[in-house]
Amino acid sequence: MFCAQCEQSNKGGCAVKIGSCGKSADVADMQDVLLRVMLGVSVYASRAAAQGACDAQVDAFTPYAWFTTLTNVNFDADRFTQLIAQALEIRAQAKALAEAAGADLSDLPEPATWNPGMTPSELAAAAPMAAIQRFMDRDGPSIVGLRNLVLYGLKGTAAYSEHARVLGTEEAAVNAEFHRIAAFLATDPTALDALLAESLAVGALNLKVMELLDAANTGRFGHPEPTQVRMSPKAGKCILVSGHDMGDLETILRQTEGKGVNVYTHGELLPANAYPGLKKYPHLAGNYGGAWQDQQKEFDAFPGAIVMTSNCLINPEIKGYANRLFTAGPVGWNGIPHIADHDFTPMIECALAQPGFAADAPDEFVMAGFARNTVMGVAETLLAPGGQLLCRRTHQFPWQPLVRDALHNGLLR
Ligand code: SF4
Repeated sequence: MFCAQCEQSNKGGCAVKIGSCGKSADVADMQDVLLRVMLGVSVYASRAAAQGACDAQVDAFTPYAWFTTLTNVNFDADRFTQLIAQALEIRAQAKALAEAAGADLSDLPEPATWNPGMTPSELAAAAPMAAIQRFMDRDGPSIVGLRNLVLYGLKGTAAYSEHARVLGTEEAAVNAEFHRIAAFLATDPTALDALLAESLAVGALNLKVMELLDAANTGRFGHPEPTQVRMSPKAGKCILVSGHDMGDLETILRQTEGKGVNVYTHGELLPANAYPGLKKYPHLAGNYGGAWQDQQKEFDAFPGAIVMTSNCLINPEIKGYANRLFTAGPVGWNGIPHIADHDFTPMIECALAQPGFAADAPDEFVMAGFARNTVMGVAETLLAPGGQLLCRRTHQFPWQPLVRDALHNGLLR
């Protein structure tokens, strides 16, 4: 095991039996194997895309599979065995697509044909071939580091793409660019200039994906509006939705309508309370809890069911809430029930069986919803010659009149 993808690692990478996030060595190794097979998928998909062909299943599985390998998303070794088997099938599907499109498949990099096996022991034996540090002795830390920069950049892009895709928004050109960069990585590139250029290409792709995600969120739920969000729980049965998937949050709100269950967002999902398409549900009761690293204490104190919809999961087994925790989407933890089909009935039944909050806590609110539409909607702006956005009246940066107006209107205190 060697993993250096996040700031939770100390000493520049986790090279131990258990990473700082709780990832075990066998899961880390299987994530490396999965990604190497996924590079092979992108080799075929990019060559097919060059001929104008794409496959919806290949393009749907790709961001999902990459997303599962991010920090704090999926710690379930069994799920990775299944995902690798699925990835091999998807790679065969992408190959058939490229062949049918008449793509040139005469010069294929190794991930396009690599067979890591299917059983846990075969996968463990294959893992060194997929390890991110391989070729360190041959290529040196600068080249390997740049390869990993592209790899981790693609992982981030995949996460945002998946969030947009589950809301029904994707773009063939974005998928094709993802496959093109991943196919480049499949060649174990050694040219510094090319690696630097592709690092920048990942950044440009990510901006495009953020634009898609913004369109997905605002298209489905409307633009966020300045909203008072309750931060103190109300009496009653309760469900806590953590992660970042607003599609799952909406599904849970629909499935709990009329059931007497209050739904709370957790931590980073707080901004969801300001979207018109979500705050219209009266049982979206507010936000509970703060930063993800405090979840063990906060989840332990939450008297209802909890679902992790994307990342930020911490080991639930050392506290007493594992029996009321669920995972969805790319998230997984061995032994924790996974909701794969958007039917949250088991979680709702679990919430109804829990005591819930006995009484209202003292009122506590924060303001949310100051997204770009709100900001630009109240600021009269003009573009200065240097590209800076200025208030048309004051010729100052627009936050100054915005904050003054918000104070005047009682939106800020
Ligand atoms: S993802 Fe986990 S294993 Fe990898 S560097 Fe971060 S803390 Fe370490």
